[in-house]
Amino acid sequence: MLFSRGRAEFLSIGKLHKFSSMILCNLTKDFFPKMLDFFVYCGILKPSRGKRGKTMRGIICFDMDGTIADLYGYPNWLELLRKEDPTPYYKAKPLVDMDTLNIICGRLWEQGWEIRIISWLSKDSTAEYKEAVRQAKMYWLWEHHFPYGVAHMVAYGTTKADCVRRAGDCPKILVDDNAKIRDGWHLGKTIDATKKNWLDELAALID
Ligand SMILES: [Mg+2]
Repeated sequence: MLFSRGRAEFLSIGKLHKFSSMILCNLTKDFFPKMLDFFVYCGILKPSRGKRGKTMRGIICFDMDGTIADLYGYPNWLELLRKEDPTPYYKAKPLVDMDTLNIICGRLWEQGWEIRIISWLSKDSTAEYKEAVRQAKMYWLWEHHFPYGVAHMVAYGTTKADCVRRAGDCPKILVDDNAKIRDGWHLGKTIDATKKNWLDELAALID
């Protein structure tokens, strides 16, 4: 009787230990990075702008819709945008494997590249909807752990180069699915996000 009670206690301690390790593991793996991202999202922490003590190699600017977020693949996306519903921006699926993209961006950041987002807000919309879209896009980046330093959420049609033109005398690379926008970029090379292997092109920047 005593033995079985002792064994039961031992087992329950073992389970407790396993449970607490599982929670600790999940906290380290998932919760803490999300919490840091959330503080950046709320403006409590400043986002990182390239690794300290290293010369800035350049800036990589990512578009969102059609590049990393599949906005145009969301059911009835245009209809919902016209009704000023921000759901497609929140629920858009990633277009690439975000773990791979985040690892590549992390390595590039370590080597002195700054990671930025330059994304247009919705076309012809009210100020309230623009703000809702801005928040939805920031939420999407947070949810997918995208390691950006600065996010420029700008009005539809803004010349994207204007966002980073004065940001240091270094090459600026644009990753975008829109050919017209890529053609208008004159601050460095561009990566065509409609190509299947564009992550390889990005990874080739790692030394
Ligand atoms: Mg796009």
